[in-house]
Amino acid sequence: MGQALVQTIRHFFPDLNTWLDCLPDARDQESIIYERRFLAWWGIALYLFQLSSRRQLDFELDAAGTCVLTNLNRLADTDHDTRPVHDTLDYFLGHSRPEALAALRMQMVQRLIRMKALESARLLGHLVVVVDGTGLLCWRRRHCDQCLTQKHGDTTVYLHQVLEAKLLGPAGVVLSIGSEFIANADTKATHGQNAEAVKQDCELKAFSRLAPRLKKAFPQLQVVLAGDSLFACGRVLQLTADYDWSYVLTFKQGHMPAVWAEFQRLLPLCPKNVLERTLPCGIQEEYRWVHDLSYEDDCRRRWHFTAIECLVTPLVGEPTRFAWITKLPVSGKTVVDIATKGGRNRWKIENEGFNRQKNSGLNLEHVYSTDPEKWQAYYHLLQIAFILVQLLERGSLLRRLAEACGKTPMQLFGSLKNIARRLLDSLRYSVWPDKSYDARAAAALHIGLDTS
Ligand SMILES: [Zn+2]
Repeated sequence: MGQALVQTIRHFFPDLNTWLDCLPDARDQESIIYERRFLAWWGIALYLFQLSSRRQLDFELDAAGTCVLTNLNRLADTDHDTRPVHDTLDYFLGHSRPEALAALRMQMVQRLIRMKALESARLLGHLVVVVDGTGLLCWRRRHCDQCLTQKHGDTTVYLHQVLEAKLLGPAGVVLSIGSEFIANADTKATHGQNAEAVKQDCELKAFSRLAPRLKKAFPQLQVVLAGDSLFACGRVLQLTADYDWSYVLTFKQGHMPAVWAEFQRLLPLCPKNVLERTLPCGIQEEYRWVHDLSYEDDCRRRWHFTAIECLVTPLVGEPTRFAWITKLPVSGKTVVDIATKGGRNRWKIENEGFNRQKNSGLNLEHVYSTDPEKWQAYYHLLQIAFILVQLLERGSLLRRLAEACGKTPMQLFGSLKNIARRLLDSLRYSVWPDKSYDARAAAALHIGLDTS
C-alpha cells in the first residue's frame, strides 16, 4: 500500500520535493529545525491520511514506536530525528503565502497535462473545467471583516465561501486548478437583493478574478468551461470569448426566458437534429438541438450558440430533462459526448469535489485555522493532497495490488475511507521498501487512470 503511494507520487511528480523546497519561508534562519519540504509533507500528510483535524497529527503521526518518521523522511529526502508538532506546521503555514501553495497545485496539474495523463478525458480536444461555489466556514459571531453575512430569521451567520475551478480528468478524477475566496467586498452594492441574487453576484464577481489567473496559468490549454445556469450570462460569455475558451452551460427557462421560448419554438422545426439511443441498462436518451440561437445580454452584446436538450427516460419513473448552451460543434456524432462530458459530468464537482472533501477525513469545513491567511493555506494544502489521493485511488497500481488478491480495489478495501485508514496503518507500521523511492523506476512504470 505504502509502496503504491510512493511510486504514484514519484511517477507523476518526480520533482515534487524540489517544488516544496521553493515554498516561501520567512522563519528566522537560526531557528529552523525542520526543512521546508519535510514540513510541507507533514502538512500534506494531514490530508493524505485524512486525519480530520490538526491535533490528530500529534497522535496519529506520533513517531514513538512507529515507522512514521522513517517513511516521511524517505518521502521528503530528509533525515530528521524528531517529528514536528502541529503548531510547528501552523507556524510554517503562517509564513508561507497561500498563493505559493496555490501555484504549487497549478504546477502539479500542468505536469499531469504535459505528461498526457489526462488525455482520455478530453472533449473534442478540450479539457473540461467546471466552476462552482461552495460554503467553507460558518460562524455565529463575526470572525473577521471579510465575513459574508446571511440572515436566517432573527439570526445572522458569518460565512466564508470559495469559487472553485476543477478540471475533470479520466476515471472521475477532479483536480482543483483555481480557488477564488469570496470576500465581503463582493457583496457591496447588492443591497436590497435577495439571498440567491447576492450569492450569484458574489460567484460571478469571483469568476471575473479567477478567469484571468486560469488563462495566465494555462495559456495554451483548450478549455471547455462547464457551469450551472448562473454562469450563462454576458459577463461569462465575454470572458470565454476573450480567452478563446468554449463552454457548456446549463440552460434554464427562468434564466434566459426569451431564448428558451425561441428554442422551444424552433425544436420541432429541426427534425434532423435528433439522436436517440437506448443504453444497455434500458435507459432511453433522446437528444435534440437547435443551432445559432441568439441572446442579447444586459450590456446589449449579442451572443450566438447552440442549445441542446436531453430527455432521459428510466425504465421506471418520470423522465428527466436537461438542457445546455454551447459553442462546441453539435452534430449527431458529437452531441452525446458534449452532453455527457461537458454537461452531465458537471455534478462531479459537487460529488467528487465538494461532498467528498466535506464528508471524509479531509474535513473541508473544519476550521484548521481562524487566521484567514492560514486557513487559505490549509485549503490549498488539502487540494494538493487530494490530487495525490485520487491518483492513488484511481491509478492502476492499487488495482494491480487488488488483482493480486483476485479482487477489485473496492472488493478488497470496501470503501474509500478504508483505503485512507489502511494507508495510515501502512505509514505507521511498515517501513516502505527502498525500491519504491527510486524515481527512475517509478518513471518507467505505466500508471493508467481507470474507474474499474
Ligand atoms: Zn471572516
